[in-house]
Amino acid sequence: MLVLFGWVKEAKEIASALSCHCYRCQRKRAWEHWKETEWVSFFMIKTIPFLSKSYVVCSACRESVLLNREQVALLEVEAKLPRLAAFLEEHQLSQKTEVQRNFLLAQREQNQSRE
Ligand SMILES: [Zn+2]
Repeated sequence: MLVLFGWVKEAKEIASALSCHCYRCQRKRAWEHWKETEWVSFFMIKTIPFLSKSYVVCSACRESVLLNREQVALLEVEAKLPRLAAFLEEHQLSQKTEVQRNFLLAQREQNQSRE
């Protein structure tokens, strides 16, 4: 008897997440909440959800940031969204050098004064 096992990865948008500055786009963007689930499949049918990860994704440049469980919980309370925005800023800037960071922050100031 032939038994067919497999592995299926599925990603879908759950909802819009928040609106805050994206340092890749250098402007305020809407971020989306995406969930990626890995399934064990049996005869090509998704059977057991094995692993699930949440991301927020910039609606313009598609930069995606992996969230932990506490950060996903922040998404559910409007008043806690600024904490998530602070995490996103921290995350995006953490990959930059000091010089790049200062440049991006200065550019953000400049853009905001123009808006
Ligand atoms: Zn962006």
